[in-house]
Amino acid sequence: MRKITLEEHFSTPELSKNLVAKPTKSESRFKDIVCRLNDFDELRIETMDKAGIDLQVISVTAPGVQAHSNIKEAIRLAQQANDMLAVQIQKRPTRYAGFAHLATQDAYAAADELERAVKNLGFLGALINGQTNGHFLDEEMYFPFWERVQDLDVPIYLHPGRMADLPLIYNGHPELIGPIWSWGCDTAAHALRMVFAGTFKRYPRVKIILGHMGEMIPYFFWRLDSRWKAYQSEKVAPEDLPSTIIKNHFVITTSGVFNPDVLINAIAAMGKDNVMFSVDYPYEDTQLASSFIETAPISEEVRAKICYGTAERILKINLQSPTPSTP
Ligand code: MN
Repeated sequence: MRKITLEEHFSTPELSKNLVAKPTKSESRFKDIVCRLNDFDELRIETMDKAGIDLQVISVTAPGVQAHSNIKEAIRLAQQANDMLAVQIQKRPTRYAGFAHLATQDAYAAADELERAVKNLGFLGALINGQTNGHFLDEEMYFPFWERVQDLDVPIYLHPGRMADLPLIYNGHPELIGPIWSWGCDTAAHALRMVFAGTFKRYPRVKIILGHMGEMIPYFFWRLDSRWKAYQSEKVAPEDLPSTIIKNHFVITTSGVFNPDVLINAIAAMGKDNVMFSVDYPYEDTQLASSFIETAPISEEVRAKICYGTAERILKINLQSPTPSTP
């Protein structure tokens, strides 16, 4: 079955100096990951071909320029990364597409770069690596950014990044920090901040993509709704249930969670039109991801939606015709 994947990463030599943490204890595996992050040729294409992936939507790996304290430098490096990716997409417009990298230290600069990436480079949206300098996307400073996102009508992928601080609960347990646990909690809380801040009331056409099977949120719908009724906040009407807001404004991907039972729960919670296949290349095993989605016990109609149909709708592309390329 044809496949589009949306959480697939790259890096630039300059941004590689800043990688979040070693994603593995194995030196050789780490070397392989860094090599694959910087590759757009044989390694990436061979892996895609073997797993039957038609199109990768590629983005800068965490944390990228969001870790930079010098804002001017962050803006420059983000533009440079987007230009580099655009060159690779132009070489293989039917295989690669892009999510923009943005210097979210400055909401206006991020909005301008998103507009440039979408209009001039043919990118399909942006991927943001969590908080920036302790600021979260629901804050007032980001209103101009969301206004532009809404005007451009492109999705924003909210991906884990560096944590703003380290809660005491993780003291003495470095194994809990990162993809194994803290990134999921952190990204879920970031997404829920937007839900409860009324971001989607203010910007009703904004769409957010969450990876890792929805960062645990779909599993929590019933509890979110029942406790919401008990607590509430003044920014969201009591009749607007969190699960309804999430189903209307979020789409999730399977990145890094290749378990059919979890997939079935995710489809039941989010709806069959709100789940998309993704891998999280090069951190995850592309072949394992592909076999998982090919063999999951779901109907062929739903499999087609998850593998490419919903991505085509959300990204406004058609696999049969090339992705938008540089004019
Ligand atoms: Mn990722």
